[in-house]
Amino acid sequence: MIVRKSEAEVRRIAAAGTILADCLDQLAGAVVAGITTVELDGMAEEYIRGRGGLPTFLGYRGFPGSICASPNDMVVHGIPGPYVVAEGDILSLDVGVTLDGYVADSALTVPVGEVGPEALRLLDVTRRSLEAAIGACRIGNRLGDVSHAVQEVVEAAGFSVVRSLVGHGVGREMHEEPQIPNYGPAGKGPRLEEGMVFAIEPMVNLGDHDVYVGNDRWSIFSTDGSLSAHFEHTVALTASGPRVLTRRTSEVMGGAGQTVRA
Ligand code: MG
Ligand code: MG
Repeated sequence: MIVRKSEAEVRRIAAAGTILADCLDQLAGAVVAGITTVELDGMAEEYIRGRGGLPTFLGYRGFPGSICASPNDMVVHGIPGPYVVAEGDILSLDVGVTLDGYVADSALTVPVGEVGPEALRLLDVTRRSLEAAIGACRIGNRLGDVSHAVQEVVEAAGFSVVRSLVGHGVGREMHEEPQIPNYGPAGKGPRLEEGMVFAIEPMVNLGDHDVYVGNDRWSIFSTDGSLSAHFEHTVALTASGPRVLTRRTSEVMGGAGQTVRA
């Protein structure tokens, strides 16, 4: 069953989302060659707790970090650790924040210094596929319209949607129904209704869509070793259209490489 949230609940998810967006902006600004992913994890935990929130991921099914930090061919679920971020990397940062029992979930992928043109295009396409999916979050549409919107943007660019990992409902729990694949036919699936809140999260590989689980049993890698990007927002469906609850100030300001608010 897809839980629909009241306006009061959406406000509480949005409050968690604001902390999360600010946390991601702070992390993105801290990503420089030489920093380790465990340092970024510490910053995030301190920041979230300092604003009265809880890092949702910490302890989730035994996950040892407050963030997921996934460089290069790692798609998602990277455990923060001794990995030293290097010039030319792309680094995906995924964070969850719980505030007063309500959860928001968001991710972005940042370039570290100068990266190659294909990497930049991968980031741009993945971000645009997320925005297309958000645009499809309209009451009366079907869930398949959201999935299809991602696939269309990604495949038109010649990249691959990761198929074995999906977005999800979010709010009272981190993972709620429905599962939201990033591919599939438009016009299928449940009708979208007011009060649904989705974590939409395209994961896009530069090469093939196949992935495998690493030795730590968390990290997921592209099988062909190609670069992978991940962008995610928590989105509420309202009568007046989709409302992004995790929009970062850097996006609204139209900072370098960022999407301006639609
Ligand atoms: Mg996430
Ligand atoms: Mg998620």
